[in-house]
Amino acid sequence: MYARLLAMFCLLFVSNFTARADSTIPMGPTLEVYVKGGQGSTPDVLAAMSRELDVLMQTAGFRVVLRGTDDAATSGGAEHLVLVELRGLCVAQFSALAGAPLLTSVPLASSSVAEGKVLPFSSVDCTALNRFLAPVGLNQPQAEQEYLYGRSLARLLAHEFYHVLAQTDDHAPEGIAKARFSIADLLADHLDFETIALQRLHPR
Ligand SMILES: [Zn+2]
Repeated sequence: MYARLLAMFCLLFVSNFTARADSTIPMGPTLEVYVKGGQGSTPDVLAAMSRELDVLMQTAGFRVVLRGTDDAATSGGAEHLVLVELRGLCVAQFSALAGAPLLTSVPLASSSVAEGKVLPFSSVDCTALNRFLAPVGLNQPQAEQEYLYGRSLARLLAHEFYHVLAQTDDHAPEGIAKARFSIADLLADHLDFETIALQRLHPR
């Protein structure tokens, strides 16, 4: 398992994903996120993802820095580092996939676990996310679809970051850390970390 994941880590650094390294985001423990994949995505999707991720992780007390896999690391090193793989074409394709809705509970995102530890390797299935959102998202204008898709990506990632940072496979009753998202959860105006999840992220 270790060798396989290490190989994955090395591959991440040859990707050409271009992401923002924002120096204006607030202070706090830094969560550096290296993203593999997403090259076929659109600026609107990535911007919506980045904005939502900033807001969600800020409420949890973390300062997110998104990086392409060929970007240099933060000087001095970040407090936390997660490697993310965006699998498939990460653009809103609700019209194309509305005829193929998810009929079973296919995981939309996941993180690696080994020997009881949640490893900082997370992934999102971009095609499954499209199939999941398509029945409802289909009715939105294209620009709104891009926005909703990018924001949903961020919510899935924030869920995985909760597992990684809190080192738990437990879930919370509500919010970002709940065990299962509905379409309404992902399309809601707000979906936040609730108290139990925040306490797990910052144990006293
Ligand atoms: Zn989970």
